[in-house]
Amino acid sequence: MPSDKHIIGILFAVLMVVISSCTPTQQAAAVPVGYTGELAHPKNVILLIGDGMGLPQITGAMYMNDNKTIFEQFKNIGFHKTQSADNLVTDSAAGATAFASGVKTYNGAVGVNAKKEPVPTLLELAEEKHMATGLVATSSITHATPGAFIGHVASRQDMDGIALGFIDSDIDIFIGGGMDYFARRKADDRDLVAELKAKGYQISNFFDDGDIGRLNIKSGHNIGYFTANAEPLPYSEGRDYLVPATKKALSFLDKRSENGFFIMIEGSQIDWGGHANDANYVVTELHEFEKVIAAALDYAAKDGNTLVIVTADHETGGFAVQPGSKLNDIQVAFTTKSHTALMIPVFAMGPGAEAFRGIYENTAIFDKIKAALKLGE
Ligand code: MG
Ligand code: ZN
Repeated sequence: MPSDKHIIGILFAVLMVVISSCTPTQQAAAVPVGYTGELAHPKNVILLIGDGMGLPQITGAMYMNDNKTIFEQFKNIGFHKTQSADNLVTDSAAGATAFASGVKTYNGAVGVNAKKEPVPTLLELAEEKHMATGLVATSSITHATPGAFIGHVASRQDMDGIALGFIDSDIDIFIGGGMDYFARRKADDRDLVAELKAKGYQISNFFDDGDIGRLNIKSGHNIGYFTANAEPLPYSEGRDYLVPATKKALSFLDKRSENGFFIMIEGSQIDWGGHANDANYVVTELHEFEKVIAAALDYAAKDGNTLVIVTADHETGGFAVQPGSKLNDIQVAFTTKSHTALMIPVFAMGPGAEAFRGIYENTAIFDKIKAALKLGE
């Protein structure tokens, strides 16, 4: 017969087990906000950033497209909080650095933390894991948003410095403007186009080689394609490469590595329409970006192991669809020529998409993608 003391001892031990199983463990704390189930791990991640694309811009584009939007395809939707380390209203540099590296930094910072120290990016972590990588934008490829995935400079103005990131990296494909920051540099006399070619890159450009859709990719090479010397034109003035560039990049990356790929594709100029307080500029850029989303979802549906995430860094312009608006004929007002502090929607589809439900900081986008691809492990 066990003594009473022994029984009390057993009861105490059982009680401790019950209590400890109710205490949040480190493992529980690592489960992403908004989802508590088992998460799948995709082979590939496509991150689509519509710069300056808040819910008001999506709403406006929808009402200018017969009440239809590609975003209706998504079931896993969340919001992120956009503020930077030094301002409630972020800029694109701090916003992209939050996505790329998971740190809150100051406005203007590209790939560096608040102490101006370089921080590793998703693209670099993917390269370390021998995944294929890509960047595509409708700005210069050295602009703040794409730049934060590959460059490490204290100021977004230093685009010559951001271009050096392309030399330090083994990025598999990049498509965008900004050839001047490689070929006609102000910071030094280096010819980064020649340096990339020496590294084995196939470097082409719109002027010499024609449309990206017709580009003949030499097998085995990394690819760089420049769409402009500096900033590409708006869509409404004739630029229309983002959809063919997306398709070209995805078909290239599809076969590039057995370890999968990470690519960031940016609709850069939705933001510029907001800065210009030009509703038609915003809507035409967003309609092009929706076709890019459709192309990404199409690829992901066929592949079956690709996670697609669509979000923005911040809202631009304080865009509002005003009273008096009609379907396909909206009246828009703006509150500012700058950005606003609005929370920004996140749309996800594919294996692991559930992790993007809920409300979280913009830095959590990095954490969730890193966890999905098991980067840095
Ligand atoms: Mg941008
Ligand atoms: Zn902006």
